[in-house]
Amino acid sequence: MYTRPLARLIEQLQRLPGIGPKSAQRLALHILKRPHEEVQILAQSLIDAKQQVGFCQVCFHLSAEPVCEICANPNRDNSTICVVSESRDVIALEKTREYRGKYHVVGGVISPMDGIGPEQLNIQPLVRRVSQQKIDEVIIAISPSVEGETTTLYIGRLLKPFTRVTRIAFGLPMGGDLEYADEVTLARALEGRRELD
Ligand SMILES: [Zn+2]
Repeated sequence: MYTRPLARLIEQLQRLPGIGPKSAQRLALHILKRPHEEVQILAQSLIDAKQQVGFCQVCFHLSAEPVCEICANPNRDNSTICVVSESRDVIALEKTREYRGKYHVVGGVISPMDGIGPEQLNIQPLVRRVSQQKIDEVIIAISPSVEGETTTLYIGRLLKPFTRVTRIAFGLPMGGDLEYADEVTLARALEGRRELD
């Protein structure tokens, strides 16, 4: 149906999340219509991003520097850490402009079925951070799915000996995923946080 290099491009695009066969075809045909330089920039930016973006060594948010901009910002509150599952949750919370503390990205949720235990996540570095620094509050902002709940309770139990632990007030739609919540809802969820029991 497609000439071979085009078929390959469509096949690769289709592997991206949220891209079905039709979207992949539309994107591929669009790319072929663009000027050569523009396609070159797109291809190069894919490679550059993959090569240059790693994890902040403090909070594990995506960063091109060893320490991310949020951790390096002296105007942010050092005594509060918001724990999230993925970097995209940091981005969602930053958009609310309500939160002025720091973050910690654990990198997923505990899911024994998928072979993800606590040791596969950035939980030990979090415990180290909280036990070694003066932290007044840890706010856990992990979606309340079954795995998210397990992860929240697990982290809460580890951190409680060192600091106050709260969780944000979910009641969010779509299984409560942070990235799907609008900024106002998310700001309210943060505002309405409560003690983790
Ligand atoms: Zn950081």
